[in-house]
Amino acid sequence: QVVTRFAPSPTGFLHIGGARTALFNWLYARGRGGRFLLRIEDTDRARSTPEATQAIRDGLAWLGLDHDGDAVSQADRAPRHAEIAHQMLAAGTAFKCFATQEEIAAFREAAKAEGRSSLYRSPWRDADPADHPDAPFVVRLKAPIEGETVIADRVQGDVTMRNDQLDDMVILRSDGTPTYMLAVVVDDHDMGVTHVIRGDDHLVNAARQMLVYRAMGWDVPVWAHIPLIHGPDGKKLSKRHGALGVEEYRAMGYPVEGLRNYLTRLGWSHGDDEVFTTEQALEWFDLDGIGKAPARFDFKKLENVSGQHIAMAEDAALLHEIEGFLAATGAPDLTPAQRSGLTDALYCLKDRAKTIPQLLEKGHFVLASRPLEPDDAARKALDSVSRGILRELTPHLQTANWQRNDLEEAVGAVAEAHDTKLGKLAGPLRAALAGRSVSPSVFDMMLVIGREETLARLADATE
Ligand code: GLU
Repeated sequence: QVVTRFAPSPTGFLHIGGARTALFNWLYARGRGGRFLLRIEDTDRARSTPEATQAIRDGLAWLGLDHDGDAVSQADRAPRHAEIAHQMLAAGTAFKCFATQEEIAAFREAAKAEGRSSLYRSPWRDADPADHPDAPFVVRLKAPIEGETVIADRVQGDVTMRNDQLDDMVILRSDGTPTYMLAVVVDDHDMGVTHVIRGDDHLVNAARQMLVYRAMGWDVPVWAHIPLIHGPDGKKLSKRHGALGVEEYRAMGYPVEGLRNYLTRLGWSHGDDEVFTTEQALEWFDLDGIGKAPARFDFKKLENVSGQHIAMAEDAALLHEIEGFLAATGAPDLTPAQRSGLTDALYCLKDRAKTIPQLLEKGHFVLASRPLEPDDAARKALDSVSRGILRELTPHLQTANWQRNDLEEAVGAVAEAHDTKLGKLAGPLRAALAGRSVSPSVFDMMLVIGREETLARLADATE
């Protein structure tokens, strides 16, 4: 069974790169009936905060990336990590190093002066335990000195590291606490992780982590190191170009299905498919489709994908998403009247909105109630024709069949009587019905709000 995990360090929000890593792991496991686990890498006590852990959990929950079982706290597992370090000592794959900071610094300086590698080589590596002093020590892994370590990476291919470039890394500090490099391996092993999908900034770590697997005789997981996300300029992703927390994308009003779709395509591809559902992503996602070149974050594309998901969404799901958006941004809940108005209007709101705020802006005509307060643009539009013309619409609309054709005819008749184009009348009429210059077509608005409300708004605007 496939087991993947997401292992964030809780030092900040869930940023977009982390969200993509989590998504890839989730898709890979869930698409194969496997398990997706969450491990909070909170060993850096000074930088880890409970707020950050919560923000990560909230971000994952919003993205719908549910994990199996309880989240594992890496810090809680320190005794287990230490236990493994001691097993390695006993097996002779690790050793106690009594070198002081000064001695290590002196070694490095001398190495530098003599033009040798400054990789630290401890004299304690081969010391007789009988000669061990009664002094503080760290535990170091006994790394092979000759040969190579090869990472068979599913994205990067075989990555070869010369062993003489890997030092005898510390696995247990002098205060008995484990180092990150040990903790990751022990946790991944104990959690039964079969596939590690993570940023390629961890590729070098993989070589060192491999040595721990070897020392313990454990199975090495499949590694897939994915290129980091770059900005549209090809450089490291900056805030301006999208290096933001997931909750900021939520606040910008991208529907979750759209963001998930966009993130899935960010570094992974399936032919020319750009817009797809999560079900399709679960079916299609694989490691072969992950590209070797860094993906570029592109707001335009995100908006486009997002808009297509809004247009595709089922009304009930979209309404649910809108209400979640309003709650998350601290806006008041929809009143029952707004809710039903929005429900009736969704058909003419969703086809061009790229984000939920754009949809809501267009939906102002069902969210606002009389008397509407026209904004500046709407007021200008109202002032562009004499109110008399608008007033003339009333008798026509009082008797018209409330159907698109008849409404078009009614408005057309008034326009014709004044020898003006329908379009010239549509602007002021839109302003009267919506109080805004952005809205669905006047006929859609009339159909949604009905005869009585249409006439009342017209009367308000022509007083
Ligand atoms: N905690 C690491 C990070 O947030 C991830 C380590 C891993 O995935 O192995 O970058």
